[in-house]
Amino acid sequence: MGMNDNPDQNAADSVPIIQPRTLRELADTDYLPTHQGAVFTTTVKQMGHWAQANSMWPALFGLACCAIEMMAMSAPRWDVARFGAEFFQASPRTADLLIVSGRLSNKMAPILRQVYDQMSDPKWVISMGACASTGGVFNNYAIVQGVDQIIPVDVYVPGCPPTPDMLMYGFTMLQDKIKAGMPPASDLALASRGV
Ligand code: SF4
Repeated sequence: MGMNDNPDQNAADSVPIIQPRTLRELADTDYLPTHQGAVFTTTVKQMGHWAQANSMWPALFGLACCAIEMMAMSAPRWDVARFGAEFFQASPRTADLLIVSGRLSNKMAPILRQVYDQMSDPKWVISMGACASTGGVFNNYAIVQGVDQIIPVDVYVPGCPPTPDMLMYGFTMLQDKIKAGMPPASDLALASRGV
C-alpha cells in the first residue's frame, strides 16, 4: 500500500502516540536506585535517635534582634523544614528545643527557666548569638552574662546576629549530637548534681 495522497493525512499519521503514564513493571522502568538493591542494618536505638534528631519541635520563644534571624530560618528561603524543625510550638509542653535568641534580662530569666522546665523531656537548648551566650555588648547589671547561668546549653552559635545559615549549622550540629546518642545538656547538668 502506498502513502496517502493527502499530505495532511500523512503528517497526522506520523505523530507519535504518547501513552498515558501507567504503573509499569520494575524491570521496564529507567529508575535505578543508588543503593543498587543493597540493604542496611541498624538498631532500634539508632532509629530512635535518627527520628528524634529529624523531628524537633522548637518553642516559640524570641528575645531580641536575633529572633528575626531565627524566624527567617523557618521561612521559605532557608526552610528549616528540610531538617524537620519548622513546627514552632506555642506551648512549651509540646516543644523539645529551646532557641534562646537574644539578650536575656535578669527580669526575664525566671520566665526563661519556667518555659524550659515546662518543656518535655528530653529537651535541648541552642544559645543563639553573642548576647545569649555571653551578654554580648550589654555588659551591665540588667543582662544575664550567659544563659547557661540559668539553663543548660547544648550548642552555642556565635555572631551578632548569627545569620539563619549559622543557626541552621548549629542546629545540624545538635542533630549530629542526638544521632550519636549524646545525652542532652539537661541530663548532664542533673548528673553533675548527683540527681
Ligand atoms: S547578638 Fe546582636 S543581634 Fe543578637 S540579640 Fe544581641 S545585639 Fe541583637
